Amino acid sequence: MKEEEAKVFFAHTQCQRFAPNHVCIITPERPGCCGCLYQTYQEKINEGKDEYLSQFEKGECLDPARGEYSGVNNAVTARSNGKHSRYFLHSMFGFPHASCGCFGVIAFYLKGVNGIAIVDRKFEGRIFGTTAAALRKRTGGGEQQEGYLGISVDYLKSPKFLKADGGWSRVAWISSSLKEQVSEVIPEDIRGKIATEAEAATVPKLKEHLKKVGHPLIK
Ligand code: SF4
Repeated sequence: MKEEEAKVFFAHTQCQRFAPNHVCIITPERPGCCGCLYQTYQEKINEGKDEYLSQFEKGECLDPARGEYSGVNNAVTARSNGKHSRYFLHSMFGFPHASCGCFGVIAFYLKGVNGIAIVDRKFEGRIFGTTAAALRKRTGGGEQQEGYLGISVDYLKSPKFLKADGGWSRVAWISSSLKEQVSEVIPEDIRGKIATEAEAATVPKLKEHLKKVGHPLIK
């Protein structure tokens, strides 16, 4: 199912136990930060046993590329202790989805190449002057952090993955274990051009790689 076909989306607040203002919005094309899927919550809502789960009318689509909906903004305002009032479901800029701490993947903006890097939360070693552990801290906590997103592997497989930011064409770097996992959903024309730790772990090296392979970011 596509977001356009769904009448209702889900909100889940279980992670407010450790990330006080966190609200996950789950749509058919955006799983929760932990990877919980729309279909799962559809079943759970019928059972009525999850006190943290609610459904709401998605409302008017205010921005189809960023994934901004009036119903999402209302739901987030009502459930985040007034902390958040707008979510862009498919962008890491402006009003990105908040990140709690359960995410398996961190997507972050790499200013040096005006691109996006995607790293497995368990990645070991230094990349771009930081580590996955430091990125986890920077990203989580239930706040909206422009340029930092805690997401699930399944969101990488969504046709709407960071659509407003350029999707896969904007991705400059991905950790090799993740690249392997989602290889089949990365468009063929870009797959070989996205660097991993084997090609680059610093911005100068990454720039060199992007130039060499003719990544769209360089063009
Ligand atoms: S990360 Fe998962 S458990 Fe936590 S609020 Fe989001 S959907 Fe719920």
